[in-house]
Amino acid sequence: KALPADAITKNTRRQVEQACFSYVRPKKTSKPKLLHVSPETIKTLGITAEDACSKDFLNVFTGNSVLANTNPYAMCYGGHQFGHWAGQLGDGRAINLTEIEHNHKYWTLQLKGAGETPYSRTADGLAVLRSSIREYLCSEAMHHLGIPTTRALSLAMSGDDVMRDMLYDGNAAYEKGAIVCRVAPSFLRFGSYEIFAARQDHKTLKTLVDFTINNYFAHLGKPSKEIYLKFFKEVTDRTLDMIIHWQRVGFVHGVMNTDNMSILGLTIDYGPYGWLEGFDFGWTPNTTDKQHKRYRYGNQPNIGLWNLYQLANTLFPLIKETEPLESILESYKTNFEQKSIDMMRSKLGLLTKKSTDQKLILALEDLLHATETDMTIFFRNLSSFKKEDAKKGLTIINDAFYNSTEVSDSLRQQWKLWFIDYGNRLKNESISDTERQNKMNSVNPKYIFRNYMAQLAIDDAEKGDYTLIDELFNLLKKPYDEQPENEKWFAKRPEWARHKVGCSM
Ligand code: AMP
Ligand code: MG
Ligand code: MG
Repeated sequence: KALPADAITKNTRRQVEQACFSYVRPKKTSKPKLLHVSPETIKTLGITAEDACSKDFLNVFTGNSVLANTNPYAMCYGGHQFGHWAGQLGDGRAINLTEIEHNHKYWTLQLKGAGETPYSRTADGLAVLRSSIREYLCSEAMHHLGIPTTRALSLAMSGDDVMRDMLYDGNAAYEKGAIVCRVAPSFLRFGSYEIFAARQDHKTLKTLVDFTINNYFAHLGKPSKEIYLKFFKEVTDRTLDMIIHWQRVGFVHGVMNTDNMSILGLTIDYGPYGWLEGFDFGWTPNTTDKQHKRYRYGNQPNIGLWNLYQLANTLFPLIKETEPLESILESYKTNFEQKSIDMMRSKLGLLTKKSTDQKLILALEDLLHATETDMTIFFRNLSSFKKEDAKKGLTIINDAFYNSTEVSDSLRQQWKLWFIDYGNRLKNESISDTERQNKMNSVNPKYIFRNYMAQLAIDDAEKGDYTLIDELFNLLKKPYDEQPENEKWFAKRPEWARHKVGCSM
């Protein structure tokens, strides 16, 4: 129902105490223009293609009009950023419009880049075209890869310029403003709970945890101490599963702060993320993290656990016992060992389990590091390996090397030995080479959203050409399929893009 006018807060920045959200209004934009709408997301929401083309749709999803009987709000949350408690953060540039039900599922619609909120701190509440294109395309690509993620409904330009840099001559640099509408059952994060524990506001903490269980974890039962533990266990399991998926496809989130950890185990906040090209546990796309590389590829599972420790601390006042929380955290470690080796087995097409598998996998990871080797091309090409023809192994994966002349004779020798081991291991499997190929191709994507592809789409869009956004959107709908007409996107990163990384703001 409509709120009294004084319930809608001025967007003045402030500490918001004892409240999970603040009512706000999106900022009106001067010349909104829709660039893309996700056909899969409108279907999920029960919106027709005709509706999506209407003036109303444009206005609502760029913040220019508020749907009748809805009360948009920005959420309060805190977070640990780069290992340190950062206090209140909150939706600084995200505004939840409303929740809708379709096919017995509930979805929250959220505008990102729709103006200031009480949580905007020193920033402007806006988003620029480049980061919006990156979020829009990547979140839908992740969905089609089968990875839990927030979704994207629409990508629009606001028609307003956004200041992003002060140049050395004192002039400001402007970029095109944009708004993405993202969609998820809930945008609650670990930080949504942490803020109340940090403020020792256990009453609001309990209200929010109970709300979360009743709305999103109702299958666990009515909130009680026992159910809080079950809730924590499920969040732990979902977080681990999500991260194992990231490791499988070479996705590096880049800012795994606790305010970017969804309570539903969804990939959330597509900022400075990136995709592995050369397989490298030490790689991070985040330029502000190049020194410590806290959020590097190989560290993502550890950080998931670190973040769950913060959530355990947060829930402690409701549970008041450390031992059961600790045993859940322990289960993350053992499950990680198991799930990660199973994931690697699936990438190698191994359906059975052998005690020697770990050695085979570690040896492969060492070899992948020894020469710059494209992860995606390597695993995809590996699926055409024939167990009776192990000597052809190196030829099959040769295309995956960024510089095959760099591969020394002794390395080639090691590769050959690895392929012999792999071929012998495959002889213990009962499936045919063709069956194995199909299985491998269903977990090793052929098309990922490489960093340079995002850059090409952004460069074109900055010049007013949006065709590549649509082309990539369609390409990434079927990441595991052979798409002969799109073979050009199954290619190593071009040399010019070597040092190009993501962007966050
Ligand atoms: P992130 O690193 O993207 O997770 O953002 C951390 C915090 O900064 C969140 O509370 C965001 O809402 C906020 N933030 C990021 N960019 C902006 C912006 N342009 N305006 C206001 N708040 C922002
Ligand atoms: Mg964030
Ligand atoms: Mg962000």
